[in-house]
Amino acid sequence: QRLNSYGDSYSIDDESSRNARKVADHYSARSNQSLEEREASPIIHLKKLNNWIKSVLIQLYAHRGDAVLDLACGKGGDLIKWDKAKIGYYVGVDIAEGSIRDCRTRYNGDDNQQSRRKKFSFPARLICADCYETRLDEYLGNDGPYDICSCQFAMHYSWSTEARARRALANVSALLRPGGTFIGTMPDANVIVKRLREAEGLSFGNSVYWISFDEEYSQKKFRASSPFGIKYKFHLEDAVDCPEWIVPFHLFKSLAEEYDLELVFVKNSHEFVEEYLKKPEFTELMRRLGALGDGRNDQSTLSQDEWDVAYLYLSFVLRKRGQPNPS
Ligand code: SAM
Repeated sequence: QRLNSYGDSYSIDDESSRNARKVADHYSARSNQSLEEREASPIIHLKKLNNWIKSVLIQLYAHRGDAVLDLACGKGGDLIKWDKAKIGYYVGVDIAEGSIRDCRTRYNGDDNQQSRRKKFSFPARLICADCYETRLDEYLGNDGPYDICSCQFAMHYSWSTEARARRALANVSALLRPGGTFIGTMPDANVIVKRLREAEGLSFGNSVYWISFDEEYSQKKFRASSPFGIKYKFHLEDAVDCPEWIVPFHLFKSLAEEYDLELVFVKNSHEFVEEYLKKPEFTELMRRLGALGDGRNDQSTLSQDEWDVAYLYLSFVLRKRGQPNPS
């Protein structure tokens, strides 16, 4: 048993690796969908909206020639977005062997979209590793530093223990150059806790998702317990079904500062859409992606239930302290 900095005892511990394995197995087992299957998804417009949010973040912060580190890169769903930003080099790391395999297939152009797309214009390295356990600066060798680090819909998997949350931020900080940017998306703990307070029991949701907390996180315990390891089960139709952890954003921000990462902005997805959809280049991107549909009928656009799921997420941008080296 050990004590963390909040005075709670924990064993170092098989539980966190068991949990990481559960998450990895869940994502590894998810097969690549055909375009037809994807279009038939009950959350297709939410997926498109999330792709729009990630594209906007990439377009705002990536520059031609950038070296990019994509933590928890998944099946490489963002490769095309990085290609459009004309980056110079890409390293993708994910814990799920199956996802890295699919990512490699996509990068090599052997997936079902092969005929529609030219080859990616940047060299890439794709690696299977636990980003919240492994010292990535040692593991990746002399590959860095990177201009931009991205962690999309995955940072919350690091918050199962303080040690993992610290490892995640230490990795980002060690690999980013001074002045480099860290962009990401993750669940908005304020919204989840608000929904839990409004719920009658320890679960809530709608037709496309549910979240369920264990009895140990009844509200009183919630306030008293350590801010790490607050676990809930998240189910999102056709996407996710695994344990996740609450990330209180103010603590994320102050922990990140310890690793020289300063907050540039944080926005809930609803606020993000409201702000960036006003900009003509991003309105046009939204139209092309089709997230908000053509308005011809209810099925062609995001449903209220999907919009409610969007509200569960936020986007953040952090900057590594220091001045970039003049080149
Ligand atoms: N970033 C990708 C995207 O936006 O399409 C994938 C997001 S998916 C919701 C979450 C990803 O986090 C999965 O691919 C999962 O395997 C990965 N992941 C979870 N825990 C991880 C860990 N400890 N180390 C590396 N990847 C992890």
